[in-house]
Amino acid sequence: MRLRNIPHAEGVIQMHRTVIKRPEDQRGCWHQVFGDRHPIYIEIGMGKGQFILNMAKAHPDVNFIGIERYSSVLLRALEKFDTEEYEALTNIRFVCMDARNVEEVFAPEEVDKIFLNFSDPWPKARHAKRRLTSTEFLERYEKILAQGGRVEFKTDNTELFNFSLEQVKEAGWYLEKYTYDLHHQEEMNAGNIMTEYEEKFSLKGNPINKLIARRKD
Ligand code: SAM
Repeated sequence: MRLRNIPHAEGVIQMHRTVIKRPEDQRGCWHQVFGDRHPIYIEIGMGKGQFILNMAKAHPDVNFIGIERYSSVLLRALEKFDTEEYEALTNIRFVCMDARNVEEVFAPEEVDKIFLNFSDPWPKARHAKRRLTSTEFLERYEKILAQGGRVEFKTDNTELFNFSLEQVKEAGWYLEKYTYDLHHQEEMNAGNIMTEYEEKFSLKGNPINKLIARRKD
């Protein structure tokens, strides 16, 4: 997702109280940012923020960090945060960055869970390494996830989902659970919070795939 360039986006982002401007300075100190020792969950490629904002609301004992590459998209999440429904949340922060650099922003074992929702499919084979569920990215995640840390991935794109199942295996991770039809799989769907894309594609009748993978020990 890349919205039309919004000239004032950078300025708004720089001023917003929930945005961490130099995230690499917090490496190893994220608990201090939140002022408690609650677990840290991140969403990579959060888009307009519906999922992570509602997760933060539903789970006050978890700290959430939303990562988005484009300032024009992050701006939309900040606008959502600045509404009555979310503005009192203290357990959420935002970072504008490319996820390729996660190791520069998080120390080993600093993150407890990573959410990937409706990640860009990069359909051309030569771009496979850019997919957020490729072994290249799983290796990066392995360096920042705590022991027992997990990736939870949802998509309606079955080709990308099958690729991701293979990559999990190739990376030596543990595939804990998966389904090709999340909304009809009672156990995995319990407490599910929908993303913007999930709402859009499930309304069209597309089944939603989900996998949960645990990093190797
Ligand atoms: N997760 C949202 C949802 O499910 O509604 C948005 C999905 S959208 C297809 C994918 C988002 O991931 C886009 O906003 C895109 O800018 C972001 N993204 C893609 N690659 C990224 C990367 N390497 N680092 C950070 N964000 C990325």
